[in-house]
Amino acid sequence: MQILLCFGTRPEAIKMAPLYHELKKNNLDVKVCVTAQHREMLDQVLDFFDIVPDYDLNLMQHNQTLNILSANILSKIDEVLTAVKPDLVLVHGDTTTSAMVALAAFHLAIKVGHVEAGLRTYNKNAPFPEEINRQFTSRIADIHFTPTAAATQNLLKEGIIEATIVETGNTVIDALLWTIDKIEDEHYSHLEIENLKKILPANKKIVLVTGHRRENFGEGFINLCDALLSVSARDDVAIVYPVHLNPNVKDVVYEKLANKDNIYLVPPVSYPAFVWLMQQSYLIVTDSGGIQEEAPTLGKPVLVTRTVSERPEGVIDGFSILVGTEQQIIKDNIVAILDYFAGFKNPINPYGQGDASHKIVTFLLNQNQNEDTGSC
Ligand code: UDP
Repeated sequence: MQILLCFGTRPEAIKMAPLYHELKKNNLDVKVCVTAQHREMLDQVLDFFDIVPDYDLNLMQHNQTLNILSANILSKIDEVLTAVKPDLVLVHGDTTTSAMVALAAFHLAIKVGHVEAGLRTYNKNAPFPEEINRQFTSRIADIHFTPTAAATQNLLKEGIIEATIVETGNTVIDALLWTIDKIEDEHYSHLEIENLKKILPANKKIVLVTGHRRENFGEGFINLCDALLSVSARDDVAIVYPVHLNPNVKDVVYEKLANKDNIYLVPPVSYPAFVWLMQQSYLIVTDSGGIQEEAPTLGKPVLVTRTVSERPEGVIDGFSILVGTEQQIIKDNIVAILDYFAGFKNPINPYGQGDASHKIVTFLLNQNQNEDTGSC
């Protein structure tokens, strides 16, 4: 069975990396195509996980509209699919890359497997364009690898055939556990982590912050920065913020928070450095999906700067709180955690235990065997 993995952004690469290695370990014929929708942040991940793409469409352009990006992906991936003729294309989550690659594969009658399928807000504007990308990909996919029972239920309610849904957990936990093992190995040394150790003060509570969502551009990011500024007046706090490269984020954050006491702005850090930062943190403030999924494994509380999340499990289990983007509400919640949070007792991560890639590959191997022997 020839399998083609296609992805374009940092979070997709992190979540597809363990799957790539698991497919290789099982001697499956696997090729990788990146669209490089995020160039620099994607390359950091490829380096760390030792993945050399077979095809690199290099489609990142400054200020590219979603329509131009979509058109470019469709036309370039067509050439790759036609050349490779895979039996199965695996795409991930909710990016424009995933939706367009799925469409191109469908046009060529190539089967599509959707990893991290079934997440929903059912609000087409939140997040935009991700919610429509993931719904669109579900309409096309032949196999749906869901991370949780809630995601499975969403697909069943939409009429997806049960036999095509495989509940696996989220591969991000595989990537996280692999990375923790690596950075905790006494023989491993990472320059970025060493540098962070030098700049971050000891004995302060670290508030780790990230953000990148279009729905928060403008007022949302301004309010977040104002909330962080007021928290930074406390002497017991160090706010560490790896700032996303999108100018809609970067310009506002640097204008409001550069050179302020107790605030450390850094460019996006590599995955091992970010995992290390999460380990050091007292709490995390983010609009990121992946971080909501990773934090329970590390026992770190997350304040989600959104009003909806397609990842309700963490909120229901008490690992994360949806705080929106009102300055006072963000500030009050940060302060409440800094002053009163005493740790989670025996946290069990609702998003997975680190065996998702294994489950996906086991399913594919069984399916391959059934096809070879003509069963099913
Ligand atoms: N991450 C990283 N470096 C950073 C910030 C985040 O490696 O400076 C990782 C983080 O651990 C998570 C992923 O990037 O696995 C999340 O990416 P992002 O927030 O961009 O996207 P989302 O998860 O919301 O799709």
